[in-house]
Amino acid sequence: TSGMVIVGAGEAGVRAAFALREQGYQGTISLIGDESHLPYERPPLSKAGAEAESVRAIVAEARFAEAGILYRRGSRVCAIERAAHSVLFEGGEALAYERLLLATGASPRKLPSLSYGKRIHTLRTVEQAAAIRGAMRQGQNLAILGGGFIGLELAAMGRKLGAMVTLIEMQPRVLMRGVPERLALALQARHEEEGVNIVCGVGVKGIFEDQARVIIALVDGRHIHADALVVGIGTEPNTALAGQAGLALENGIAVDDHLRTDDPDIFAAGDCCSFPAAVYGGRRVRLESWRNAQEQGSAAAANMLGKAEAFDAVPWFWSDQYDLTLQVAGLADGAVSTVARPLSEDAEILFHLDGDGRLLAASGLGRGGAVARDIRLAEMLIARRAHPDPAALIDPATKLK
Ligand code: FAD
Repeated sequence: TSGMVIVGAGEAGVRAAFALREQGYQGTISLIGDESHLPYERPPLSKAGAEAESVRAIVAEARFAEAGILYRRGSRVCAIERAAHSVLFEGGEALAYERLLLATGASPRKLPSLSYGKRIHTLRTVEQAAAIRGAMRQGQNLAILGGGFIGLELAAMGRKLGAMVTLIEMQPRVLMRGVPERLALALQARHEEEGVNIVCGVGVKGIFEDQARVIIALVDGRHIHADALVVGIGTEPNTALAGQAGLALENGIAVDDHLRTDDPDIFAAGDCCSFPAAVYGGRRVRLESWRNAQEQGSAAAANMLGKAEAFDAVPWFWSDQYDLTLQVAGLADGAVSTVARPLSEDAEILFHLDGDGRLLAASGLGRGGAVARDIRLAEMLIARRAHPDPAALIDPATKLK
């Protein structure tokens, strides 16, 4: 008998598998992942402090058997046969599905014609994280291309482990996407205090590798010499399977507000899909965030069981660098004004409002729990499509509650 099949055993796929059971499904649940490790958390892979830990599993291995989930690791699905309602493994074996969930995640974007793995790295997997950590020894020169979250977190980790770090960002500042200038510049300043050499606003002309090092030639004529280079310039959604099966793609596997593709029996969740963001009038977005992957995994499971739950969560993301936490709730594009609420000497929250005074997003940077608490409250206001009084938002004496 065919049952539920999930391709991709990351955050979204694992959550979906357990959610199917928790929500009462009694048939066969197959979870298929091409990695050889048990499903593991990716956020610790780039965070200082977590480097000494062994791989952090998403769930203990025994739970798969307890929940009656058939988990196949190290196997790769290479095709979907929609007419036959089955997926094909490399090697030709077929597995029938009643409903299929694609939770295939995303892959780091690469620069062409470089050879990855020895001195030049990207980061998504445990193996890649180990290789990068190996390049962060005392006295080693580490270059990082890209001032996004991964690049910045790795810069902090590299400093902590004693490496000399140069971070190169083509844009005029780090975190151009999704983080307001004021917080990005504060973080950038902190990295510089910690000894990271940040080079912004300069393009890369070429990257060369010899036996001993990597040389990054910048457009302005400078050359950066490094023992290793991490390329952290964003990701591409893993859409090959869906594309070959003829499913609609649009910056990811295109799903509707029930996380259903244009095939009624195939769903998608997590980093691989783009979906209409209900909180923002149905604008199509693709998120790359841990909580989104979990929430979409649960929601997809409900919809695979015919529960017709529209997905309307507020996006949320965090990043840890040194002793600072950055959190962003909501999407700030479309905001026309920003007001700041000081939380303490070294923490503040920014609120981003549209032309009608509606709160679209909030972003906070600082130490300790204050940022997390107020971002959580802001998230509720964003979910309610609230139009809070800006004077109250910026006054630390007014409780957000
Ligand atoms: P993934 O976790 O990528 O899982 C997809 C899985 O599917 C992979 O194992 C892949 O190998 C497998 N797969 C793909 N195709 C096939 C196939 N054909 N057959 C079988 N298996 C297949 N988010 C935050 O909010 N905060 C953070 O601080 C943060 N830090 C991060 C740090 C790092 C280093 C990385 C890489 C990500 C971080 N993220 C963070 C993002 C977060 O980890 C992702 O959003 C989340 O892992 C997405 O889950 P997913 O299940 O959609 O995809």
